[in-house]
Amino acid sequence: MTKTDAVIIGAGPTGLFAVHQLGVNGLSVEVIDNLDKAGGQCIELYPDKPIYDIPAIPECSGKELTKNLLEQIKPFKPKFHFNERVQELKENKGIWTVKTNKGNSFTTPNVIIAGGVGSFEPRKLPLKELEKFEGKNVFYSVSNKEEFKNKKIAIFGGGDSALDWALELSKNSKVILIHRRNEFRGAPRTLSELEKLKKRRKNFYKNSFSN
Ligand SMILES: Cc1cc2nc3c(=O)[nH]c(=O)nc-3n(C[C@H](O)[C@H](O)[C@H](O)COP(=O)(O)OP(=O)(O)OC[C@H]3O[C@@H](n4cnc5c(N)ncnc54)[C@H](O)[C@@H]3O)c2cc1C
Repeated sequence: MTKTDAVIIGAGPTGLFAVHQLGVNGLSVEVIDNLDKAGGQCIELYPDKPIYDIPAIPECSGKELTKNLLEQIKPFKPKFHFNERVQELKENKGIWTVKTNKGNSFTTPNVIIAGGVGSFEPRKLPLKELEKFEGKNVFYSVSNKEEFKNKKIAIFGGGDSALDWALELSKNSKVILIHRRNEFRGAPRTLSELEKLKKRRKNFYKNSFSN
């Protein structure tokens, strides 16, 4: 049983910055994450994708953001417990007991739940035998954008992630963006960049309902 000032569940950007905020208040922290490293979605789902909406940082990747957050919290010496999932939280007279799937227990007066979207599972396309191509021709995330240089790429989707990657990968590859609606769901600036690209490049965008 480990006694600590605070337990943070989740080592994504929220959990990592919570270490900083607790640290400046002089609290010791144990951070538990069921991934094998810190960074949450940024490191697991888009380590290489550019991020443009962090104050005072014009552009950085998920990897760089994680690296900087870890650098920023170094002075507070948080203890990380990776590959561990929190399974149970119990409170008794203001003291919490946090239990993990590895049988470890922590007692603390403060628990920060920074679990984000929980553990990540791609929503796969329901196509027969598609698994055969996963990791070779079919990808549900981009972990190394170098692998997508000088290729012909079809991106399915119309949300932030699809749009960001369509813009980024089209710098070095032929990209076709395929979406089931006429509208996209993205930041206004991304949408205006996309409109420019649509005008510059023939066949960049296909609505999957049109021929
Ligand atoms: C493809 C993609 C692109 C994105 N691009 C941008 C962007 O450009 N700009 C932007 O601002 N945002 C972007 N986002 C959103 C951004 O990544 C999230 O808002 C951010 O990661 C949320 O951080 P978080 O720390 O709250 O949660 P998460 O990053 O989800 O981290 C939560 C962590 O908690 C852990 N966890 C959950 N449950 C447990 C448990 N029971 N026990 C132990 N550990 C647990 C998970 O393993 C995970 O590591 C993007 C998201 C995606 C998917």
